Amino acid sequence: MTEDCIFCRIVDGEIPARVVYEDDDVLAFLDANPLAPGHTLVIPKDHYETLGDMPTDQAERVFAALHDLTPVVEESVDADGSNVAFNNGAAAGQEVPHVHGHVIPRFEDDGGNPIHAVAGSRPDLSEDELDDIADDISAATN
Ligand code: 5GP
Ligand code: ZN
Repeated sequence: MTEDCIFCRIVDGEIPARVVYEDDDVLAFLDANPLAPGHTLVIPKDHYETLGDMPTDQAERVFAALHDLTPVVEESVDADGSNVAFNNGAAAGQEVPHVHGHVIPRFEDDGGNPIHAVAGSRPDLSEDELDDIADDISAATN
């Protein structure tokens, strides 16, 4: 529990929320300012700021909840699809510094955009630059 974190306070029951799912590690509740009916946030109960801060076992539980909840949320509001995403870090638009996955139901002709629309102007990367980026990532992960 981090005292000044709004989502920790929801986990603790200090701030009310429309909880739609709970287990030992994960809480899911409706977003207070929804982008669509059924807009749901899925969080680890423990406080971590970003995805990378979360231990793997916690990340697995959050993803399992997203996996199980997403079709249920879609069916509950009769959605045609959904965007499932994390704003990861302030530069990416994360306002609440407690990691949370958004499930945003989508409807045919709702006027919204795909996730490709979230970034700024597209970079013009050469084949060599793409190779270097791929090498750097794979060197750090393998
Ligand atoms: P972020 O920009 O950090 O990815 O999104 C934060 C989300 O949390 C926003 O969609 C916002 O509407 C939602 N939110 C902020 N404060 C509260 C709250 O007190 N209760 C609930 N249920 N949602 C909140
Ligand atoms: Zn928190």
